[in-house]
Amino acid sequence: MAEDALAGEELGGEADGEAQHGQATIPGFGEIHKTEACRCRGGVRHRNDANGWSVTKHVGRLTVFSDTVVATCPVPAVSRQLLQSQLSAPLPEAPELVLVTDLDGTLLGGATAERRSFYRWLAEQRERVLHVFCTGRDLASIARVLEEDEPIGLAAPHLVIGDVGCTVACGQSLLPVPLAVEPIDARWQGMEQRLLPMLEGQPGLAAQPLHSQRRLAYYVDPEQFDHSLIPQLEAHGVDCLLSDNRYLDLLPTGVNKGSTLLALLEWLEVDPQLVVTAGDTLNDLAMFETGLNGVVVANAEAALLERLPRLSSIYLASAEGCAGIAEGLRHFGFDHLWD
Ligand SMILES: [Mg+2]
Repeated sequence: MAEDALAGEELGGEADGEAQHGQATIPGFGEIHKTEACRCRGGVRHRNDANGWSVTKHVGRLTVFSDTVVATCPVPAVSRQLLQSQLSAPLPEAPELVLVTDLDGTLLGGATAERRSFYRWLAEQRERVLHVFCTGRDLASIARVLEEDEPIGLAAPHLVIGDVGCTVACGQSLLPVPLAVEPIDARWQGMEQRLLPMLEGQPGLAAQPLHSQRRLAYYVDPEQFDHSLIPQLEAHGVDCLLSDNRYLDLLPTGVNKGSTLLALLEWLEVDPQLVVTAGDTLNDLAMFETGLNGVVVANAEAALLERLPRLSSIYLASAEGCAGIAEGLRHFGFDHLWD
């Protein structure tokens, strides 16, 4: 796109400063690090510091990538309505709680009787509680667990964040939501060709049988694995995430459970005070670092528990799995949902 497309009037009336972006000046932005990729969701987010993704400003119709303005955004605004239009089933109109649960060890954790009871409660509260799975599993694996655990009452959520944040899907149909998935897809282009030769034959790694196109996942033996490989891989634009001392995920830089959840919440237009997350391993850490209220269940891995002192708004439950989630919800003042 020509630089003259950057005229201020095209950017909306939000200008409160100026920043250099390549050769162009974009009113309305704070500082832009031109080496960092931007993510377009109808507006623009960009990475503006070393610590992670952050929203600085929506800029109307422009899609801004690393060092060039490359396209006019195809959608004028991103909203709940647009998100809903890409789902197969309606979301609750006015949820009183948005419950975001990891699966293994969390929503699938705890004694069967406690799980049964929690799933029954979730089903009864379907119009009051907007439920989001937030898991490392891919969509095929989520479908499998829904089928396997249906006899004890596990039901499809409203929304799914899968593949450790690399996939967003409708909970009912498990069909990916293009709005969320396409920007991640764009950032994953060419990654496998670059990374797979580096990973091939490495000791202590075995590929997980996945059906995702936006991530690589391995079983890892930490004793045998050469940890010096991680910075070499990350230099190619991925984040390496070790969790539960046995999983290694390679994700597009900046994409994780937390970043994708924040994007989803923005589209849902919900009050962050109504959101509670729950998890048990290091791949949930990004979710707990969002600052949203979160529950760490009692069976959490030690490496996650070690991080707790540095996290705010996180409750460590004394119960495991489902009972721990319920305990956390009461702690955060959602008792009325049991009335
Ligand atoms: Mg887990």
